[in-house]
Amino acid sequence: MSDALKLRIRQLAKPQKEGKCVLYVMSRDQRVNDNHALLAAQKHALAKKIPLAVVFCLYEKVGYRAREHFAFMLDGLREVEADLAELNIPFMLLIGEGYERLSGVIHHTAPDAVYFDFSPLISPQTLQKKLAQSALCAMYVVDTHNIVPVWQVSDKQEVAAYTLRPKLHRSLEAYLEEPEPIQKHPYNWPGPIISLARLQDKTEKILESINPNGTKPNIESGEKAARDALYAFIKTKLERYIEDRNNPSASGQSDLSAYLHFGQISSLRFALELRGLLLKQGDDLHLLESPKMPQATRGLNDSINGLLEEMIVRKELSDNFCYYNNNYKDLDGAAEWAKKTIDEHRADVREFLYDFSEFELAKTHDPAWNAAQRQLTATGKMHGYMRMYWAKKVLEWTAKPEEALGILVKLNDHYSLDGGDPNGYVGILWSIAGVHDKPWTERKVFGKIRYMNYEGLKRKFDIQVYEKQWS
Ligand SMILES: Cc1cc2nc3c(=O)[nH]c(=O)nc-3n(C[C@H](O)[C@H](O)[C@H](O)COP(=O)(O)OP(=O)(O)OC[C@H]3O[C@@H](n4cnc5c(N)ncnc54)[C@H](O)[C@@H]3O)c2cc1C
Repeated sequence: MSDALKLRIRQLAKPQKEGKCVLYVMSRDQRVNDNHALLAAQKHALAKKIPLAVVFCLYEKVGYRAREHFAFMLDGLREVEADLAELNIPFMLLIGEGYERLSGVIHHTAPDAVYFDFSPLISPQTLQKKLAQSALCAMYVVDTHNIVPVWQVSDKQEVAAYTLRPKLHRSLEAYLEEPEPIQKHPYNWPGPIISLARLQDKTEKILESINPNGTKPNIESGEKAARDALYAFIKTKLERYIEDRNNPSASGQSDLSAYLHFGQISSLRFALELRGLLLKQGDDLHLLESPKMPQATRGLNDSINGLLEEMIVRKELSDNFCYYNNNYKDLDGAAEWAKKTIDEHRADVREFLYDFSEFELAKTHDPAWNAAQRQLTATGKMHGYMRMYWAKKVLEWTAKPEEALGILVKLNDHYSLDGGDPNGYVGILWSIAGVHDKPWTERKVFGKIRYMNYEGLKRKFDIQVYEKQWS
């Protein structure tokens, strides 16, 4: 096992008596390739010469997530199941409450060890801790979502990107290693396994019971589709990323966030491919301070480094925040200066006030805001630049900041395919509660929270093109 792989693994429960198999409880990282949790589980099983199975627990409801999100996930899991079958690794789908269902499987299969993938969010952390407390075997969690494992890069909540960036820089090299492929498992699983296809009726019933959101995402689900999307982006859009990414009508972003959210692709794969391109040009990674919108064309290298800044620094900063701060869906998660300024401006008169359904139906007075909301409800993805504006305006047009936060979390998690993610909770808190930001000039309602307005959109790009696209 390489040193980098060892550092991705944390022990949750000590080994006990010898077990009969190894289980990997897949959750956030729904892929076979570049999955260090699966790799670590297989290494354990090979060392002990015992079978290995992947277990996935399907909940009947997850927060505000919609039917379309469950359908996207199940499509991806079918591919995972088929790919694992080729490797002689069975895939077990459990349906229902996590603790009960997983304890049952652990009791029944008597594993030597259970491996989990890592999420900084409260519910998977609580589940893993609870299972570890009553564990009859070794348990491990493996961070295969971040390039540098969250507990390795920092042991505390970071102030902002500028404090995390140098820490990432110091550790990055060690983790940018090509993961070993999963091999065909030589030890057969002893009993029958209920396949996803055999649970089709049950999964359809679950889908029917979950509220749809009506979005029509224009991406296909699955690990293969995710890789295709990555290579298509590199081929056709990467060079212009630095110029186009902040223009909502240019569609210059990678559109990989849903794949990253469901773990159908790893950010490590993304980084390895981009770094390979840099090395070919005789350059290497530089995690940049967000480059300003350039006037003239900038090179491929700036695009790559700009993208890596988002995909490594900003993304891993979100995991850092949620891991060390349980208040990621609460204004209490904000810094003291931000809480103070939000409180001081609670009673400020709001020029416009909307309720949840007016926001949801894009019935505000602002054509840019409505366009952003329509893009979200049509496609399941709002352009990244507009997400900041969208969130800030909800703060401006609701009676209380807590109400704004509730509306934003609900809209983002229910409509965005990439929602329910640390990036979403941190993006919202950045927008309305100054998380990872600094105090700005004081003004009505916002206090010292950074402000954005329609004039600013007009200065940056032709906002009317975007408004027409989503009118
Ligand atoms: C209010 C608000 C809500 C957001 N909600 C989500 C969400 O639910 N899920 C989500 O993944 N991102 C969210 N973001 C962050 C960001 O807007 C999206 O990650 C990005 O727009 C996704 O599109 P892309 O993959 O085409 O991005 P690209 O520009 O192609 O970036 C590539 C990857 O880098 C990461 N990234 C880019 N920008 C950021 C950022 N600001 N913070 C953290 N990581 C970033 C993402 O993983 C992204 O997929 C939110 C931001 C804000 C301001």
